[in-house]
Amino acid sequence: LHHPSAPTRMMNGHFASVGDSEAQYEHGIQVIDEDKDFNPNLTTYLAYEKIIPAGFNYHLISVFGSQSTGKSTLLNHLFGTEFGVMSEQERRQTTKGIWMSKNKRDGTGEEGSMAENILVMDVEGTDGRERGEDQDFERKAALFALATSEVLIVNMWEHQVGLYQGANMGLLKTVFEVNLQLFLKDSKSVPRSLLFFVIRDHIGNTPLANLRNTVLADLSRIWSTLSKPKGLEDSKIEDYFDFAFVALPHKILQPEKFVEEINKLSTRFREGYKDPKRTGLVDEDSQPLLLPDYHRRIPADGFSRYAEGIWEQIESNKDLDLPTQQELLAQFRCDEISREVLVPFDEVIAPLEKTQEDGVRSGKVSLLPNLGAAMNSARIAILQAFDTEASRYHKGVYSRKRTELASKVDGRLKALFHGQLSATHKSGVEAFSDAVSGAVKAGQKKNASYDFGKIVETEKKKALAKFEEDAKAAVVEGADWSDYASELALYRKDLDSVSSRLRKEEMRRLATRSERWVRSRLDESIGLEFNKLGSGRGGSGAPAEGEKPVSEKDLWDRVWNVFTETVEFAEARFTERARNFEASPEEVEVGLWRLRRKSWGVLRAKVQEEVMEGNILLKLRENFEDKFRYDENGVPRIWRPTDDIEGIYTKARESTLTLIPILSRFKLSTTSSPPPLDAWIGSAPPSVSPADEEDLAPIGGVDEEEGKSLEEEMMVLSEAKSADLTVRFKKTADGVYVEAKRSAIGGITQ
Ligand code: GDP
Ligand code: MG
Repeated sequence: LHHPSAPTRMMNGHFASVGDSEAQYEHGIQVIDEDKDFNPNLTTYLAYEKIIPAGFNYHLISVFGSQSTGKSTLLNHLFGTEFGVMSEQERRQTTKGIWMSKNKRDGTGEEGSMAENILVMDVEGTDGRERGEDQDFERKAALFALATSEVLIVNMWEHQVGLYQGANMGLLKTVFEVNLQLFLKDSKSVPRSLLFFVIRDHIGNTPLANLRNTVLADLSRIWSTLSKPKGLEDSKIEDYFDFAFVALPHKILQPEKFVEEINKLSTRFREGYKDPKRTGLVDEDSQPLLLPDYHRRIPADGFSRYAEGIWEQIESNKDLDLPTQQELLAQFRCDEISREVLVPFDEVIAPLEKTQEDGVRSGKVSLLPNLGAAMNSARIAILQAFDTEASRYHKGVYSRKRTELASKVDGRLKALFHGQLSATHKSGVEAFSDAVSGAVKAGQKKNASYDFGKIVETEKKKALAKFEEDAKAAVVEGADWSDYASELALYRKDLDSVSSRLRKEEMRRLATRSERWVRSRLDESIGLEFNKLGSGRGGSGAPAEGEKPVSEKDLWDRVWNVFTETVEFAEARFTERARNFEASPEEVEVGLWRLRRKSWGVLRAKVQEEVMEGNILLKLRENFEDKFRYDENGVPRIWRPTDDIEGIYTKARESTLTLIPILSRFKLSTTSSPPPLDAWIGSAPPSVSPADEEDLAPIGGVDEEEGKSLEEEMMVLSEAKSADLTVRFKKTADGVYVEAKRSAIGGITQ
């Protein structure tokens, strides 16, 4: 019947933390030892008994009563526990302290059977012999039990009933006092408790109902003598406690009946609901004892921490304030749970953060694949895991801690989200720029005319779609920060500025092409105009067959016409192409203005080439020879000695010499003044930029600040050059004349 080895297994103040748990926890665990120290291994024990994951699905029952009233024996029979029991021979007090054990009868929680996960606390050493110290422990143990337990079993012999001065009544007075103390701060948050009176060695002469009335009368008497705290003066005992009674037969004298009654009693340790019609008293025979009202609502995974906190407060004689303790526990556990749930979150998220950070540091764009899916599932998982564990704790603390956790999580996810957006932004802008340039290059290579505007439009559409696709994929559902509208707007703006840069480049290319075209056209057409000088028929002779009649005097009129017509044509083409890719009117205006200036430069260079010494001398000679060697009808002259060679020579020479002053200045014959170059080029458009002007040569008469007049701009040959050319030409003409003279004489001699 007794278990002699049990009390010695885990005693003497030190708590073993390692070893064979099975053997170690065979007799439960000593929660508070005789030195009033709290056992730090309570969590280990609860884990060993698989209580930790139970949430609220567990129960705590404590037993009170005088020393050696068979408390431990009762618990061992009721719950199959192995609490230390006093040997019948020795009659010595067992070790003080509070023991805990899980119900070994294995409740299934099913209808009619014991509840699951019942924890039983055996409070030892109350009502000892050395009163002074024991009363302190008794009080502390009572507080501890009340703060944690749903049911307090008050165990007493039948013959103790009605002994108002008896030890049991002293104990109950303590229980009531400490209960009132617990209500000081907040009378609503402390749940009710059930005082379950187990009357032992019931002989049967006095019916249980009578015993119950006696006990209840005693309790009321005790209650009335208590000095109640302010505000609770009128409180009744039933405000805080429910009562239930049972009587058990004598264990030694009626062993079978004792076991039978115990078995019956055990089924009352099941969950149930209180009949609302009853108040204060739970029916003795069949009513369930474990009512939701009594539950302390401490989640199982926080129980040991809570119990330890409670004991610390009690031990240091501080006011025990359960709501504060529950909030403290909630804070502690919510923080702990936050840390726990962050571990799997980190496993997924931290590597992504690292990849992104590395990318940023090395300047490489790193678009994280499947980021959205990873973030969504990690976020859902962490919040769900937190909710599952933490929602059982103090609601206010829980929701505050949840907000904290969510904002921590969201802070990190938000950074990832924005990192992803900026990655897709960066790579998108690059890809867009490359795609447009690539398409232009391909178009140029094929030598086909390509549509720059269309290329930009297509590529922009693609770039925007890609951004939206990437952004959408990274969206975290239910997160209000997970929005990319402003980033998309920014991206669009960047694409626009890239396309405007590319359009500018395209404008330059178009300008270059236009200039090249003008140059090649002028090269040919101006060359042709100058070649006409060589025929000499512009002067006096009749035009050759099929030739338009030209006058040497209007050389510059023709040059100017050809020039302006050519440039006008180029301008029209330039405008049309630029419009095609949506260049602005201002850009077109600047482009045309540049084209005209550049074209003028081209013309000037061409003219300079034509009047280069060798070239022009040759043309003058041809012109002269044409006039000298052909008659008015274009028939070649055969010189005879009788011919007025000298007269014809002089005439032809003078005629050709008139070309030199004409050539030396670009002057229109119609106005005898320079062409209206300044008006034709026009003033610089208002939108012209310094970059647009950078490569432009100054033009006299147009750029006034250059200090060069239009007259000077139109100077083709300087005075000195004209004089020099005159001398050289004369020498050449002289040579022709001498030759003609010789051939005339030679013709006679032959
Ligand atoms: P506790 O100090 O209240 O835990 O008492 P114990 O369970 O250690 O038992 C004290 C003594 O009372 C032991 O010798 C038990 O054998 C004995 N005892 C236990 N139950 C009963 C009972 O129902 N009736 C009687 N008369 N003795 C009992
Ligand atoms: Mg005992």
